[in-house]
This record gives sequence, structure tokens and C-alpha cells, in this order.
Amino acid sequence: MGLRKGDVIGAYSISHDVKEEYNNMAVFGWTVLMSAAFIAMLACARIGAVHSVVFGGFAAHNLALRIDDAQPKLLICADAGMRAGKVLPYKPLVDAACDEARYAPPKVLIVHRGLDQELNLKPNRDVEYAPLRARHQGAEVPVAWLESNEPSYILYTSGTTGKPKGVQRDVGGHAVALALSMRTVFDVGPGQTMFSTSDVGWAVGHSYNVYGPLLVGATSLLYEGLPIHPDPGIWWQLCEQYQVRTMFSSPTAIRVLKKYATAWLKKYDLPAFRWLFLAGEPLDEPTSHWINDGLGKPVIDNYWQTETGWPVLALLPGMDLKPVKFGSPGLPNLGYKLRVINDASGIDAEPGEKGILTIVPPLPPGCLTTIWHDDSRFLSSYFEHFKDLLYNTLDWAVRDEEGYTFILGRTDDVINVAGHRLGTREIEEAAASHSGVAEAAAIGVQDALKGQVPVLFVTLKQSLDEASSRHETTQQIQQKVVEMLGAIARPARTYLVHSLPKTRSGKLLRRLLTALAENADPGDLSTLDDPAAVDEISKALARGPD
Ligand code: ATP
Ligand code: MG
Repeated sequence: MGLRKGDVIGAYSISHDVKEEYNNMAVFGWTVLMSAAFIAMLACARIGAVHSVVFGGFAAHNLALRIDDAQPKLLICADAGMRAGKVLPYKPLVDAACDEARYAPPKVLIVHRGLDQELNLKPNRDVEYAPLRARHQGAEVPVAWLESNEPSYILYTSGTTGKPKGVQRDVGGHAVALALSMRTVFDVGPGQTMFSTSDVGWAVGHSYNVYGPLLVGATSLLYEGLPIHPDPGIWWQLCEQYQVRTMFSSPTAIRVLKKYATAWLKKYDLPAFRWLFLAGEPLDEPTSHWINDGLGKPVIDNYWQTETGWPVLALLPGMDLKPVKFGSPGLPNLGYKLRVINDASGIDAEPGEKGILTIVPPLPPGCLTTIWHDDSRFLSSYFEHFKDLLYNTLDWAVRDEEGYTFILGRTDDVINVAGHRLGTREIEEAAASHSGVAEAAAIGVQDALKGQVPVLFVTLKQSLDEASSRHETTQQIQQKVVEMLGAIARPARTYLVHSLPKTRSGKLLRRLLTALAENADPGDLSTLDDPAAVDEISKALARGPD
């Protein structure tokens, strides 16, 4: 296709959900399908092209935005994906995105999985993969050697706080950081197996499904689909079958499992299983204890961002495991010099005092080198907030005397109640300590008297209809918050709902909840996972608190 070093290639959709029936064949079903995305990434690395993988669950508009930002020469996609047994045609989505985009790719390569018969190939643009593959099978493609600072890939952030940023990664530093962290953080070496449950479309997928394990000669177990199909024991069954040593997942996924019996966690024999790593959002204590007790394996929180590409805060089981402190992702990782800055005074916060977590430049290897084609946004987004030159993580943190750092939420997730600043996370944690609560979302809503008041949205472990009394339950939850944080934090209103609005990567969209509660424009909904959650929240708000 005449692709060269430095060309950008977009991959879309080939990594989305699998047929449910494939779950029974687990890895085999998977390798056939997910491997297409995986191999496309490695093929780009081989020829020195820059890839930008877009999660298959996004809509045409999201894809169009990313196409215009990355301006790929080639887009690779599958004909269709499947979710919970339903065929989701991708080709029409890709066509719609190309129609909308100003910089539509000149070529689209389609991996035809036979799910969607009507491909509607566009002459001169669309190319089918199978005949092309047959024509070039066995060809030896030389490796393109790159200078270590050249770009390897672009990956867009989740868009939890606004317009996604095109994180640009280098080649050399990236490889060094991943190889190091495989040993020191994840404790995986040659011949051992790592199982990351992430989609390859996210940062974890790039770092620890694809590149990290391969860089150290380890095996990467690929599985995509729901953790509860065919049953909620599927992950542990795979861990037993493939002797997984280290598993990497997210608190959201564990909260999904938490709705099912703990017996599933104990059903399989996991002698090889050493560590369960969780990242991506705050790991609340109840969830952490639940999975820790259920599996009987150490649970290791770790904190990082798409921007950093590997953990910023972690414990290092592969080197020297320090004790776990529940609620903290641990200590600064190798290569990271961190400062917690008091946002009012601009100076370092004392131990126990809340501040903004920053990284002292130069950023360690593996971190972003810039925002794709936008150096000035790179500087203004991350480096222009303090008088010292510091990378702003945009997350609140507090450090204890020993250096353990606790993440308190995003800097745009703070509620100011009558002059008291409360982190949404503190309120959510307090609510989640009520035994009936599966998940809680706290937001600040404008109030004439107090400036803002906390408002709580809660999902319960048992179904709502079985809950003894909605009002009694919300009263108990609010009481928990008061006991732990004082009367100032008492939620003014609490709503019991079936689901909370999240991004495609499973992060709570608090800005959306706030907009709905304040009757404001909800803004860009394109990263929202399930539009039904918005309807339910709107109805709950109209109905009034429980
Ligand atoms: P955007 O930057 O586009 O708004 P995003 O921040 O959600 O999206 P990611 O890079 O996927 O995009 O997420 C990184 C963020 O996730 C961190 O800045 C932090 O807020 C949160 N996070 C990640 N890991 C943890 C953790 N272990 N504990 C608490 N928060 C975490
Ligand atoms: Mg972010």
C-alpha cells in the first residue's frame, strides 16, 4: 500500500466484543479476532508507521474527530463486531465517519469476518484484507529502524473531563519503561503469563496487552467480552487454564463481579496466580477487600494516565514489595519524582495536607512526548499551572509521612459547600462503606445558600425492588457519610438508580451528572457508554430524591 515510516494508520473496531459463543473457546476465539488489531499494531511498529487505535465502541462522530486529528493514510477496520450476541456492523460507521471527516483516509482496509455480508466496498478506497494477505503471504518485510525519539503511536485520552487529547509516545523510552515495569511492577518475565482484561484500544491495552509482555518474552493472554459471560467465573477459569501469574483489570470490572456470589472467585485452582493489579479509577476499600478476601491473592492498586503510559504510583512486587495500604496506589514509581502542591500557596503540601499531584520534569521514559500536532496544547494542558515548571496530573492527592500517596479525585471534581472543600471521592467512599451500596457518584450542585451541596447517585448490590425501603436505604447511606465526614458532607439529595453514566473506558462521568442535575447543556456525550443511563438519571431527577 506504499506505507512508509512516519505514516499514520488508524485502526478501528477490530478489537470490539466477540461473539458470546466464542467465550467458551476463550483464547482461540479471541486470538483469531483480537489478534487482527494486535498484529496491525505490531505491523506498524515493524515498518515504523504511527498507529492510532480507536476503541470499537465509539460512534461515527468520535471516529471522525479522531480521524481529523490524526489524519491517517490508512484506516483498518472489521466488517462488524458482536456484543452480547448481536451483530454490530462497523463498515457503515466507518463510512459515516469518513463522510463527516475533513481528512478522510485515502484507503480503508477491511478485515472481513463474515459477520456482515453487505460490505458495500467503495471503489478506489476500500481494500479487502484476505486477497491482499494471500498475495503477500511469506513476504519478508524489513524492519524500519527508528531514532528513539520518533513517534511510535498516538492514543486519545478517555475524554472524561473534556475533548480527548492525542497522546504521542516515542519509541525508545517507551520500550525501556515497559520492559522495566514488567519486571519491577508486574513481576512477569520470560515464559510467564500476563492477563490484562483491557481492550487494546486503551492505554493499558497498548502497554500491557501488546508491547510490555512481548518486550520481556512473556505471554499475553487476550480475552475480550463480558466478564460475566458465559458465567461470572470466566476470568478465573482462564487464569487456571493458562496459569496466569499476573492479572491486570479495573475497579469497574470488579464492581460488576461484586454483584455475583463470591463462590465464583473460589471455584478455580490458581496456584500460579500471584498478583491482581487494578487501575484506571479510584479503588474503594470495600471493593478492594471484597476481591482480596474472595481470591485470597494480593490486590495491587496502581495509578497512571494515558499520558504517562505506565504506573506513576505503584508498589514494586517484582523488586521489593512494600506493605499495601488500602486506599493508596502506593509510592512514586522508579523514574518519577513527584510533588504534591498546595493549590492556593503554590508550595509543597505537608504530609496529610491535600494538594495537586505533579511530576517534576523531565518526565520519565515512556511518558508522552507531546500532544499530536499541538505542542502548545501540550504546554497549556500540563505545564502552565504553577510558578515552577511542573507536569500537572490534574488529580488531587495527599501523601502520608512514609510517602504513600492517596488520590482524592480530579481537580475538577471538588465540591465547595459553604466554604468547605470536599472531594467527590471522599463522599463516594463513605457512601460505599454502606453494605448495600454497589457504586456511588457524588457531585456538587448549585445551591443559593451554601454555594454548592453534595448530591449522591447510588446503585445497590441487590435489585432496587428488593430493597427494604428506598427512603430508609438512602437515609442510612446519608448517615454513613455524616458519620465519616461530618454533617457538612451530608448529601442534600440521594437517588437510587440502576446504572451510572460512564465513559467507554468505565470512568464515571460526573460532569454529565452535574449538567443533568443543574439543567445545563450536557455537552459532548460522544464518549458516553450507555445512553440509557442518561434517561434513567433524568427520570430520577424529575421524580425527586429517594
Ligand atoms: P481525559 O484526560 O480525556 O479527561 P481521563 O483522564 O479519564 O480522560 P485516562 O488517561 O484514561 O483518561 O485516565 C487517567 C485518570 O484516571 C487519572 O488522571 C485519574 O484521575 C484516574 N485514575 C487512574 N488510575 C487511578 C487510581 N489507581 N486511583 C485513582 N484514580 C485513578
Ligand atoms: Mg486525564
